[in-house]
Amino acid sequence: MPQADNSAATLLIDGEWVPAADGRTRQIHCPADGQLVATVSEGGRADAERAIAAARRAFDEGGWSTSSAWERGDLLLRVADILVRDKDEFARAESLDTGKRLVESEYDMDDIAACFRYFGKIAGTDAGKLVDTGSPDAISRVQYEPVGVCGMITPWNFPLLQVAWKVAPAIAAGDTFILKPSELTPSTAVLLMRALVEAGLPAGVGNLVLGTGSEVGSVLSEHPAVDLISFTGGLHTGRTISAMAAPTVKKVALELGGKNPNVVFADADFDTAVDFALTAIFLHSGQVCSAGARLVVQDEVHDALVAEIVRRAEKIRIGGPFDEDAETGPLISAAHLQKVDDYVKEAVSEGAVLRTGGKRPEGERYATGHYYLPTVLDEVKQGSYAVTEESFGPVLTVERFTDEDDAVRIANDTHYGLAGAVFTSDPAKAQRVANRLRHGTVWINDFHPYLPQAEWGGFKQSGIGRELGRAGLGEYQEAKHVYQNL
Ligand code: NAD
Repeated sequence: MPQADNSAATLLIDGEWVPAADGRTRQIHCPADGQLVATVSEGGRADAERAIAAARRAFDEGGWSTSSAWERGDLLLRVADILVRDKDEFARAESLDTGKRLVESEYDMDDIAACFRYFGKIAGTDAGKLVDTGSPDAISRVQYEPVGVCGMITPWNFPLLQVAWKVAPAIAAGDTFILKPSELTPSTAVLLMRALVEAGLPAGVGNLVLGTGSEVGSVLSEHPAVDLISFTGGLHTGRTISAMAAPTVKKVALELGGKNPNVVFADADFDTAVDFALTAIFLHSGQVCSAGARLVVQDEVHDALVAEIVRRAEKIRIGGPFDEDAETGPLISAAHLQKVDDYVKEAVSEGAVLRTGGKRPEGERYATGHYYLPTVLDEVKQGSYAVTEESFGPVLTVERFTDEDDAVRIANDTHYGLAGAVFTSDPAKAQRVANRLRHGTVWINDFHPYLPQAEWGGFKQSGIGRELGRAGLGEYQEAKHVYQNL
């Protein structure tokens, strides 16, 4: 298994597990305590090019792209069964790579299996449609076909979940692919590829090339033999990838960052609003694209709500993935910890009021991990750095609003548009506000749930296209119109 495997033949190219062409490896250290948890192959340009050639051959010549969608669906259901069978091994590897609490990784594993099951079940249920030609002498249909060779680039915060959202629909559609997961968290991608092989994925259909974005990711983005690049990660990387993909006019699907407003009206149930405000931002130390990083709260309830959130935030227990009493964990790296701390300092320098946190926790227990205290920044100004930029850490900013129109205006005042929430006891107001929010997901009196059968994605600069749901399959398909003169 890939954990601390010094042979490091962890690239899957054309059905073979191989080391990097130039023999490079990378060591993965747990963010919670710095322990070495895996040694994996570090692929480069040559490996990416070989994998693209293999995926191209498998698509053009191997019969996969014209295989039965029902059989591909069965394969996905077998993968889901393997994920359930090996859940403990996957969850442990995910927690060691990310520092995430084991219970969260276990929870994610259920969602990942559900994603494979969903796409397994819908594969083949919708092959296209008949189109009315208006003439008895012609027939016309639109049929859905695989898009071709897909490059997939994914982040470190939900390493396997983000991979599953791409790999499962690509297999359902009949595409071939090259996966490049984050270089920081590769272990579960290796395990997943083993599961795909065990489930019967033919050689060359699914390829794994570990390595950095600047080497492997850029080859996938630029290469003329890649038909679609599907990326999840930060806005700036998304822009770079779009630009690299433009000369070959490949399809581009982007799931980018968010600066997600959590709108709390004065008539909301107080305890519910506090509970969800805390999990919205402090789950996985705020390293969640849809984290409720902006609390937008009605004037009347502002002081009481912020005071209670601060009181509870100071009680949150921080610890490593296997600490049973931990409620949140470390940040992914020392560089990211520095970025979050810089963000907080910048926010305070422009006038935000630091109510709690803003530094690393003290004590021997935290000395070797990348920990940061749950942080609350109050009275942040609209349009300021603190409400515009993603910290991607455990940092909650607070803005006030007066009435419903003001709440909607503030919540939409961002170039991002991934997710948002509304807390109120008035169902009609909840619906009105939800309809006016320019965000891809809106929760009412809840935060974070999503469903494999419901589309996920961003308005505005949070992305292009959708994952999950029917549209998530559609990203991996082309529509072809066939017209016949009888
Ligand atoms: P990142 O953009 O730094 O890296 C993501 C991936 O892109 C990695 O695999 C990386 O190696 C690769 N990459 C980096 N530079 C590249 C380049 N020049 N060319 C090609 N590939 C390149 O993001 P991250 O730090 O791994 O993840 C955090 C970001 O991801 C946050 O902004 C978060 O909001 C976003 N995210 C979005 C969603 C969503 O569903 N919208 C989900 C999870 C994370």
